[in-house]
Amino acid sequence: MPRKISRYLFKVANKNIWWCDYCNMPILKQLCPRCHEKGRKLILSLPGDVRPAWREDLNLMRNIIDNEYGNGIGKKLLPDDKIILINKIPWLDRMEEIIVDGYPIGAVFFDLTRWRFMPKSEGAKRINCYGGGKRVLIDEGAVKAIRNGMNIMVGGIKSIDGNVERGDYVIVVSRRGDVVAVGKARFSSREIRRMRNGMAIKVKEIVDESKIKENSSKSTWSDFLKANKGEIEERSEKTIKFISKTVDRYWSYGRSISFSGGKDSACLLSLVLEAGIDKVKIVFLDTGIEFPETIRYIHDFLRDLNVENLLIYKKSRNDFWSLFERLGPPGRDYRWCCKSCKLSSMQEIVKEYLNGRCLTFLGQRKYESYWRAYEPKVMETHYIKGQLKVNPIRDWTALEVWAYIGIQKLSVNPLYFRNYVRIGCFLCPASDMADLLNVSKTHPDLWDKWERALKCWMKNKGFNEKWLRYGLWRWRNPPKIWKNLIG
Ligand SMILES: [Zn+2]
Repeated sequence: MPRKISRYLFKVANKNIWWCDYCNMPILKQLCPRCHEKGRKLILSLPGDVRPAWREDLNLMRNIIDNEYGNGIGKKLLPDDKIILINKIPWLDRMEEIIVDGYPIGAVFFDLTRWRFMPKSEGAKRINCYGGGKRVLIDEGAVKAIRNGMNIMVGGIKSIDGNVERGDYVIVVSRRGDVVAVGKARFSSREIRRMRNGMAIKVKEIVDESKIKENSSKSTWSDFLKANKGEIEERSEKTIKFISKTVDRYWSYGRSISFSGGKDSACLLSLVLEAGIDKVKIVFLDTGIEFPETIRYIHDFLRDLNVENLLIYKKSRNDFWSLFERLGPPGRDYRWCCKSCKLSSMQEIVKEYLNGRCLTFLGQRKYESYWRAYEPKVMETHYIKGQLKVNPIRDWTALEVWAYIGIQKLSVNPLYFRNYVRIGCFLCPASDMADLLNVSKTHPDLWDKWERALKCWMKNKGFNEKWLRYGLWRWRNPPKIWKNLIG
């Protein structure tokens, strides 16, 4: 991992989350507000921007686990009667760490063609205990070697389940029945059975000898909200104060909120209203490539809150599709889409509706990207003249945003309950391959239109089919790692 990125991860690391083993739920301060016992620090992969797993997330993850380790294992590993957290971690594509009973049990990840599951120690012990598959039985001599840091040679294997394919994550078990390691199979079980010598399994994680940390206490999302209400209210009060102070300081500026239809901007909008800020223009910049759910949601949400002053801004010229014909697909390194469909619209709004000088409140959070982490809470932008960007919830975690939404009973974009993590344009080049696959399933019509456009561009430019299949269109110059990967 580049040093720049690891520095960023440490900078933003979520340090304000503990787990109460009595209540079996996350808590936002060390002393559990519900049972007053001391919680333990939740150990997460960085940056630790955890969020609750909703039903659709659970269903997706259970299917992935069932596909790998046998029917029903997913449901046992991720039961309905506990709060389960997911933690998006940086990787080539989507990777989500799963936290059950306050322990990471493994991660689901998209390997560019399909979803996989990689168990961690705790998950491997549980899968073994529930009778899940992909087990490799080794003899006692091999156990010692693994604990000394060796990989698994064919000679040490007593037996291997028949369904292991190359690249699978296997659960390495001693003859006594203890899980010793999680490994990655270098060959299929058929191949391994025929092999005489050589390394068959690469050890990914040595599993310690402690017992399974399964917790029988049940917990629900509303228990969590009730228990952590005080913490969230305290956090909100601080943020509201910051919003009021900023408006006082720049009293002569016009006021606007950039509302994207995502959870962060819903939380932000509600906080600005709580602060009693009036004469705020709520701006949604319609790029023309939005999900229909988002547009519907924005209207419903503001109607529920009794808020007027919505400005949906859509440009008739500079339409995305006509620009596409000239410029081709937008890329992470070639964001003409944001520039032509958003920034120039916002510039017009500042001029026309906000007296040429304004505060714009945004729901950006430091956990979302490297750039956002280094932005101050109030800053001028280079792109839009006269605009001062304000990020009141920059330091909030996704869990805090979801908690605020739950406590305030705000409605959220329904796409969050269809396996979407972030809401934006449906063909955003910042999407992972996993996100795009999801679009093709939930919105086949939108996706077909986009795929047809991409195919035309591919043909004209003489690109090969991999350009489309592996989403290389998301860059003008794909990073080396992607070029190498695809060959
Ligand atoms: Zn407790």
